[in-house]
Amino acid sequence: MHIIALYLSVVNALIKKINKLEKVALLLEPGKDTRKSWHKQVSEIAENFLDKLENGKAYDQDSSHINLLKQPFTEEGMLSSKIFGDIVNYVDKPGINPASGGHLGYIPGGGLYASALADYWVNVTNRYAGISFANPGAVKIENELIRWMIRLVGYPETAWGNLASGGSIANLIAIVAAREAKGITPENIRKSVIYVSKQTHHSVEKAFRIAGLQYAITRTLPLDEKLKIDPVRFEEIAEDDKKQGLIPFLMVSTAGTTDAGVIDPIDVLSEICSRYAIWHHVDAAYGGFFLLAKSLSSSLEAINKSDSVVLDPHKGLFLPYGLGVVLVKSRTHLKNAFHYEANYMQDATEVETEISPAEVSPELTKHFRGLRMWLPLRLHGIKAFRSALEEKCLLTRYFYEKISKLNRFETFGKPELTVVMFRYIPVSHDPNAFNQLLADEIHRDGRIFISTTTINDVHWLRVAILVFRTHLKTIDLTLQLLAEKVILVENKISGC
Ligand SMILES: *Cc1c(COP(=O)(O)O)cnc(C)c1O
Repeated sequence: MHIIALYLSVVNALIKKINKLEKVALLLEPGKDTRKSWHKQVSEIAENFLDKLENGKAYDQDSSHINLLKQPFTEEGMLSSKIFGDIVNYVDKPGINPASGGHLGYIPGGGLYASALADYWVNVTNRYAGISFANPGAVKIENELIRWMIRLVGYPETAWGNLASGGSIANLIAIVAAREAKGITPENIRKSVIYVSKQTHHSVEKAFRIAGLQYAITRTLPLDEKLKIDPVRFEEIAEDDKKQGLIPFLMVSTAGTTDAGVIDPIDVLSEICSRYAIWHHVDAAYGGFFLLAKSLSSSLEAINKSDSVVLDPHKGLFLPYGLGVVLVKSRTHLKNAFHYEANYMQDATEVETEISPAEVSPELTKHFRGLRMWLPLRLHGIKAFRSALEEKCLLTRYFYEKISKLNRFETFGKPELTVVMFRYIPVSHDPNAFNQLLADEIHRDGRIFISTTTINDVHWLRVAILVFRTHLKTIDLTLQLLAEKVILVENKISGC
């Protein structure tokens, strides 16, 4: 009796405490009215943002107030209007605006609205996309996207892939798969050889280090005058390495280099690689989706001869940031590199019918990022993407034709994809310094954003046309601004 009374009082005290905590914890479950109010405010902010895109800035240099975001978190929640206002002012405004059609720097992004809705949906339902058992539908969607891209690049059905968070992680996955497939171990790593070029994206070098491949020999291959890997030299160097008893095992080429937007000779490189049993990885993070553009597909079709490839839907399919794809020709290599066993996963593995993302990537729990790609493809249809990509190619060609005719401007060469490198040759001033001043003036104006790069000590300005909102009038504005700012810089230099 006494024990039962004690037990009851303990339980009652527990219930009292739990009820008290529950009341506060319920703050995490806003009621319908609050949800509607927040949703309405965010919707209005989004609409306002989209309305202003066309005439707003692509780049805002003023980041002087971002320290206001430093306020400490408080025990009590804050008013939504204040928090949302801070995000509008200090996050949405300063820096580069990747959603703007005027963003012509680096390799631009985009931000399809349909993807934003998909992310909203996915986050409300919070489906678990790591393992097919947990959400067969989500995994099915991701796997169907992988199958679609396998067909797009022309890989066989034995291929497989993964929707990763971006091109860098996708490159890492491919490189780890190559390392495992080629049996690189601590015993042979110092004799193993990797081939890259000076134009290889830095995420690849980073991936080598993460994958422990910094102890291998890395050869930076010579480039031709168009900044493409020279296949003849590659073969000579690989042959030489082999003769010396080294183990050539990995070559990374690029389909759409980040600087110059050129495509390495993938076809010939693949042939050489297969002769030397070298894994050929093509980094097509930027250029891959131009396979959808009929005018370009022939220059990219040799990707199907590679062993692995990376494509970035958050570049070439205009998605908001957060989706890069790796495809590996032989799914066995992908599975060998990333398989795992865990006791607590036993329910999951027994009923698998589809390959689960967790089996072929470093991630277990993952964002169901497939829906942000699936939804726009379904809602808009492939034709919309194909046309947008073709349009960007022609806009690039248009810019190239026009800038080549502008007085004292020169280009690096005819664009292969959607990048043009160009510069102004001033009458007397140092060209490198002048072009930096020109870029600075364009940035100060902010209506468009361009980036710069240095190749063999020459400072180039570059436009990269890949935002789906970039259209003919954006390019005309760019040409107009360049002409205006050249005069401004000339006047500044001569002290007028
Ligand atoms: C953008 C890019 C990457 C890196 O991809 P992220 O999505 O930025 O991680 C790698 N390679 C090339 C060629 C790229 O253009």
